[in-house]
Amino acid sequence: MDSQFGLSRVDVLRAVQDAVTLWEDATGADLFIHDEASGFPIAFVYDGRQATAQERARQRSEHRARRNRIDAQQQELEARTRRIVDAQESQRQRLAEYNELAASHNAVVQRWNLATSIPEPILNQLTAAEDRLMLEEARLTEEGRKLEAAGDSLSEDAARFRSTVEEHDRMGQALERVFAASPVLAARYLQLLTPDGRPLPGREIQIFQFDSPSHLQLVMAHELGHAMGLKHSDDTVALMSEQHELAGATAEATVHAADLEMLRVRCPEL
Ligand SMILES: [Zn+2]
Repeated sequence: MDSQFGLSRVDVLRAVQDAVTLWEDATGADLFIHDEASGFPIAFVYDGRQATAQERARQRSEHRARRNRIDAQQQELEARTRRIVDAQESQRQRLAEYNELAASHNAVVQRWNLATSIPEPILNQLTAAEDRLMLEEARLTEEGRKLEAAGDSLSEDAARFRSTVEEHDRMGQALERVFAASPVLAARYLQLLTPDGRPLPGREIQIFQFDSPSHLQLVMAHELGHAMGLKHSDDTVALMSEQHELAGATAEATVHAADLEMLRVRCPEL
């Protein structure tokens, strides 16, 4: 067991047991025993295959983490957009109120302009109203300017955000191109034979590559099938299909009818 796989002894025993259970549940028979002394070894052989798979998993996970940060940025931009839209709406309402007040004020002023003289209290009232209107106008202008600046900065950030998303998508595609699943052998069952084809005592399962615990279970169950003397099945769903021995296999580990049929040819009593 190469520690670079990052599996503990317990993990490995569980993976083997899960694979054994698949076969034993399907046949209702005890097919394997764990024998440290005289059993055959299951070797985890670490090389470029698993190193590539781990690097791919690392880069994919980083890519996903960046995607999460992008999603958070998007929510932030959407919240900013909503705040600006709300502020624009309230600005429009205040502007409408201001225009109404200004129009009625102007109408009053025009009426008094027709009079020969304006009484002092009225003049004071009109001047005070004028001051209030000018103050509100100045406020509205200032807020309008701020809203425009906020809108411009939002547009710039949204454009930057779009190019971040595009860059992220390009990186994702590049990542998948670099790590395009190549049909490397994930495991094998070795049975040494004499020149005339008789089995020698040394035999071994070698595990080279797996992407997840479920992939390991699939590969392990396939190799245990070989250990029981099964060859490859032409049925592509069968556990003994050759493709389940390759890297990147995604099928659910299940013993199929084609597997049982092959096993019963070898062991008719099952
Ligand atoms: Zn095989």
